[in-house]
Amino acid sequence: MLDLASLTELLAQPQKIIITTHHKPDGDAMGSSLGLYNYLIQQGHHAKVITPTDYPEFLSWMPGNEEVIIYTENVEQSELLIAAADLIFCVDFNSLSRINEVGELVGKSEAYKVMIDHHLEPEDFDDYRHWNINACAAAQLVYDFIVNELKQPELINKDVATCLYTGIMTDSASFRLPNTTSEVHRIVADLIDAGAVNWRIHELVYNSASENRLRFLGHCLSNCLEVLPEFNTAIISVTKADLDKYDVNTGDTEGIVNYALSIASIRLAAFIVERNDKVKLSLRSKGEFPANEICKKYFNGGGHRNAAGGASTDSLQGVVSKLKLILPEYKKLLIQ
Ligand code: 5GP
Ligand code: MN
Repeated sequence: MLDLASLTELLAQPQKIIITTHHKPDGDAMGSSLGLYNYLIQQGHHAKVITPTDYPEFLSWMPGNEEVIIYTENVEQSELLIAAADLIFCVDFNSLSRINEVGELVGKSEAYKVMIDHHLEPEDFDDYRHWNINACAAAQLVYDFIVNELKQPELINKDVATCLYTGIMTDSASFRLPNTTSEVHRIVADLIDAGAVNWRIHELVYNSASENRLRFLGHCLSNCLEVLPEFNTAIISVTKADLDKYDVNTGDTEGIVNYALSIASIRLAAFIVERNDKVKLSLRSKGEFPANEICKKYFNGGGHRNAAGGASTDSLQGVVSKLKLILPEYKKLLIQ
């Protein structure tokens, strides 16, 4: 175990540091990792971000992106770096299964492990924890860690601010979710003062898609959407053939589930997609409805109350049918 004083002392000298985050990184995973990276390198640490898998183009522009190591494309280098690390930061996840093969390497490493996360039910693999499920993003907690725990607000430079802004913006669904408190807005204002160009970040993340992506969205809404009014639920299900036809890349499916949730009566929206070796399920909900409970109980996953995910080795149709069979159990919550 590490206390804050020992961690502060450790960070006062240059260390070999790995930062890792969950597989198929999203905006918060990359924003919190690179925000921390840009903070650490200012103090002479030898820091590297290792992601378990690749991540979308619309997240591949943040400061430090060119230094990120993708494990699946650099297995040996990642193994050597993790084995040699003094300190490993685990951001935006709290269970080693969320980082695929990297989990085994982190698990057997002798390095101190620092968890910075906002998901429920953390596993016990860390030596120091900055964890709060009320935070809207791991990037919010990285800000809090730097400013309020390590007391170095002056090191929130333009690069750090840009990355943390991206994490908070994406995980709060552009400052819309209920956990976007006044405190979050104060942090975001501070990040803009520190150099984050908010309008430009919105452009880079949300207005940088391909024509194919927009046509694929049209296909999903016209042909793949099923509305179940008796359960206030909408399901979009997409086959592997659809993905191939529209040449869908990593990240192109991100956010499509929100269109299903945009119907006034809908309380639960699902996006179910057939990948190579499994079917992936993304759930989004409004208000008190516990999307994460369904993912945890039935689809080997988890997440937050309003945004959760899971996976299954069943067929696409099998997963859709299973979800429909589960809905009566939640009918009361769905129709209130
Ligand atoms: P998405 O639907 O964007 O893939 O995931 C939404 C949220 O659900 C993520 O931020 C993450 O917290 C959670 N999540 C998604 N997939 C999984 C999974 O397979 N396992 C767990 N534990 N959480 C997941
Ligand atoms: Mn997050």
